[in-house]
Amino acid sequence: MSAGDFLRGLLSLFFPERCPFCDGISVGGEPCESCEQSGLPPGEVRQLPVPLRFGSCRCVTSYLYEGRVREAILRFKFRGRRDYAPALGRALAETLRRSAGLRGAYLVPVPVSKRRLRERGYNQALLLAKEAARELGIPCRELLEKTVDNRAQHELQRSDRLLNARNVYRVKKGNAIPGAAILIDDVVTTGNTLAECVKTLREAGLEVRCCAALASKGLRRPRGVEKTGKP
Ligand SMILES: [Zn+2]
Repeated sequence: MSAGDFLRGLLSLFFPERCPFCDGISVGGEPCESCEQSGLPPGEVRQLPVPLRFGSCRCVTSYLYEGRVREAILRFKFRGRRDYAPALGRALAETLRRSAGLRGAYLVPVPVSKRRLRERGYNQALLLAKEAARELGIPCRELLEKTVDNRAQHELQRSDRLLNARNVYRVKKGNAIPGAAILIDDVVTTGNTLAECVKTLREAGLEVRCCAALASKGLRRPRGVEKTGKP
């Protein structure tokens, strides 16, 4: 046993690793048996609303944003649970392995503003991208930065999200690199944020292969749930 293994073993006695979906103790932080068997809602493929002149782009997701998946992402994103990143990143890597060509590809996380980074202490999309890239053996590059501190998309109505996401990203200087980018985010709702990132990269002459997010919400209503109008 190496010193690193010993230390990790010791640490896990005091801070046992947790299943991200129920926060129960789980070896290696993997999704536990109960969560696996409960049938985590599988993700989907959708087209992003990229302006026509910038071509089309699809987004693949690992899960639907419901139930345990939603709770896991809320803890990961807003309650400081960075320790979920390896397990969630592996799930995203598995989705990419199944549904995207990876030859010559590298992962690019959707950036957050400097203010958001200070508040939260980390960019959840970067953590996911790093873990997924390590799992897939491809590079992760932080090519984009957010230049405008706009309101968080989840705070806005669907109709306001398109304008809110427009022209808020730019490619960092000196980043002309070969290969094709796969953009990574945690949750996709309207797809406006990812579409804007695709546009920004393609405008700068970079190739974008597709996008991937851990979960998607909003477009497909869960079966059996009808939209209820107010009386
Ligand atoms: Zn679990």
